[in-house]
Amino acid sequence: ERYRDSYTPGRVSSRHRTTFAIITESGSMQAGISGALRRVGRIPAVGDFVVLHRQPDTGTSMIVDILPRKTLFTRGVPGRDGDDQVVAANIDTVFIVTAAGADLNRHRLERYLTLVHASGAEPVILINKADLAIDPSTLTSEIAPVATGVPVITLSAVTGYGLSALDPFLLPGRTVALIGSSGVGKSTLINTLLQRTVQDTGRVRESDGKGRHTTSVRQMFILENGALVIDNPGLREVGIGTAGSGMNDTFPEIRELAAGCRFSDCRHEHEPGCAVREAVAEGLLSQDRLESYLMLAKELEFQQEKAEIGL
Ligand code: GDP
Ligand code: ZN
Repeated sequence: ERYRDSYTPGRVSSRHRTTFAIITESGSMQAGISGALRRVGRIPAVGDFVVLHRQPDTGTSMIVDILPRKTLFTRGVPGRDGDDQVVAANIDTVFIVTAAGADLNRHRLERYLTLVHASGAEPVILINKADLAIDPSTLTSEIAPVATGVPVITLSAVTGYGLSALDPFLLPGRTVALIGSSGVGKSTLINTLLQRTVQDTGRVRESDGKGRHTTSVRQMFILENGALVIDNPGLREVGIGTAGSGMNDTFPEIRELAAGCRFSDCRHEHEPGCAVREAVAEGLLSQDRLESYLMLAKELEFQQEKAEIGL
């Protein structure tokens, strides 16, 4: 009975060095973490579900436990998998936002897809600024070749066109994160989704130690129906280094073809009996797609080598 008062659940909405902004049933609050967690290097990340303990003497709250994570975005430094590498946790769906026009970059999309697949979250590609396209229906066909098995939604954050297609992903209790280059309209989209802003959760004032007060960027938003939206600048730091497991889901057709390569560790570069290169020669797989795959594989390898020599 006594425990019920002093232990409460919460969710981390942003992190500021040693202070965490937490959403609880009774509103937002700030909390530090217990020495026990700190000692073992368990550091909460945005999106973590945590157990808070209210200190009876000071009335302040302390994070004393982190619940198991469903999905996980890390900085992607191979071999370093401590909690200090965790960027965001428990994201169900990631909206990979691109925009009509200049930003439709296939390679970048494949990179994002690999990261999201590796995190365990479900990727959805949004093509924003559909209002700028003469024929919005042509936008998806440009993306289709790289988006195997991934929903592609064309919309406009400004006019509201296509917005309802997001509803199945914005369900109560579900968490969606937005990633994508700057300027594609992520903030505009969040504002549109929030139309009637219910709660502003992540704004925390903290001193930076030089007497200045900084107001950090909002990172987690609650929609009216209870869906959560994360716009976390940290997700931009996510590296490709540990995302190797996501490659198979991003390039399912290459994975399938690779089963026919003579060598099981074929890199599809110059090896004899490579079924993947054969498929390219026969026009069954585009050269573009293979090049993209090889570039990403190289990047992964580079990150791994860097980690091995301790960079
Ligand atoms: P962010 O950097 O991804 O957060 O992008 P912003 O939300 O700041 O948007 C960048 C610019 O694109 C702003 O000038 C927006 O008004 C504009 N923008 C965003 N969404 C749309 C859209 O659907 N259509 C058009 N035409 N412009 C948009
Ligand atoms: Zn091969």
